[in-house]
Amino acid sequence: INETYKRIEEVDGDVQAFLALNKEKALEEAKEKDQVPVNERGPLFGLPIGIKDNIVTEGLETTCASKILEGFIPIYDATVVKKIREAGMITIGKLNMDEFAMGSSTETSYYKKTKNPWDLERVPGGSSGGSAASVAAGEVPFALGTDTGGSIRQPAAFCGVVGMKPTYGRVSRFGAVAFASSLDQIGPITRNVYDNALLLEVIAGVDPNDSTSADVPVPNYASKLDGDIKGLRIAVPKEFLSEGIDESVRQSVLDALEVFKGLGATVEEVSLPHSKYALATYYILASSEASSNLARFDGIRYGFRAEGVKNLMDLYKQTRAQGFGDEVKRRIMLGTYSLSAGTYDAYYKKAQQVRTLIKQDYDKVFEDYDVIVGPTTPTAAFKIGENIDDPLTMYANDILTIPINLAGVPAISIPCGFDNGLPLGLQIIGKHFDEETVYRAAYAFE
Ligand code: GLN
Repeated sequence: INETYKRIEEVDGDVQAFLALNKEKALEEAKEKDQVPVNERGPLFGLPIGIKDNIVTEGLETTCASKILEGFIPIYDATVVKKIREAGMITIGKLNMDEFAMGSSTETSYYKKTKNPWDLERVPGGSSGGSAASVAAGEVPFALGTDTGGSIRQPAAFCGVVGMKPTYGRVSRFGAVAFASSLDQIGPITRNVYDNALLLEVIAGVDPNDSTSADVPVPNYASKLDGDIKGLRIAVPKEFLSEGIDESVRQSVLDALEVFKGLGATVEEVSLPHSKYALATYYILASSEASSNLARFDGIRYGFRAEGVKNLMDLYKQTRAQGFGDEVKRRIMLGTYSLSAGTYDAYYKKAQQVRTLIKQDYDKVFEDYDVIVGPTTPTAAFKIGENIDDPLTMYANDILTIPINLAGVPAISIPCGFDNGLPLGLQIIGKHFDEETVYRAAYAFE
């Protein structure tokens, strides 16, 4: 744990992944853990982990990288935090992100801009940019992120690490600050597939505090990793390799498919015909849910409160006007509009219907195939500042990850090559609650 903080001191001035450190408590915990007999220690015992700042940690500031939560100290731990503590892991600190997880570059953080450790002029991706960068920079070997439309997988791809978005309902969301509750999932970001599998096993499982968590047995994923994927049926959607995808990205996926064939898998092209509606559907649904979820930030209950206000209504207005950044306000306005009486049927309801069509595309492919493989992102990491003033280009970055959240299925991003020295990610998508096959395929490739 000492070495971890030393490393953070060395590199975080450049990378800027951490928002808060838990140093005193972590060192104390580590000392106590030294007393635990070796035969009582599990595989992750005593190991350091960083936590995205939208997951609440008792006694440790949790801001969602927003001014509106400045100084907010939670009074309880998220279920995943309880679980990693029970496994003996040690929380090192809280990791930077896009404000309330809205973004794809970690540039919407109120506090700092995290840099991509492979090239400090580039973004680490987002919204779990701090989580992916901290692992890539060797600050921590494990991090937790959240993924609503790609926020674990896209930064994992940009930073050359492994990120898993589990099946919706696989991991309890209790204590994850809600962005879009029907899409959000917590998941692990690690340096390799084996570590990732170990961490998912620890955090997964049904939780009485989250009624959307599913009572489905959690396998010992790591014990199933044997490198044998003979006969694995891989589907490659043609929509995932068409226009808008960089040639280097396309080539890296084609190369990866050859590796899979060499390992005895079969590869066939399929179609997910409703993919072209995913981005529009997502931005209506995610913004609608966000506009409702973020109503709780009123200046009364948590964090920041505006001063010099005239009355209660003015307190709400001033707090929210000063506390939220531009991107969050944009989503609240979009969402409120989609949910309003005159537009509900045309936008929100229509988007819900299209979401079902998208999910059915995936169900249909999974009748005949074990996994779907494609790129994680259309390009490698872009430059800081390049897209921040152009929300539509920024949104388009998640075109390959968003449909997976709409369908609710699990997907991992693993490193699969480079474009001019910048890492690229391969996305492997599985059936509902079949993270096991996703991990097996990822491990065999790695
Ligand atoms: N980039 C997408 C968005 O801005 C996804 C974010 C996420 O998965 N949290 O909404």
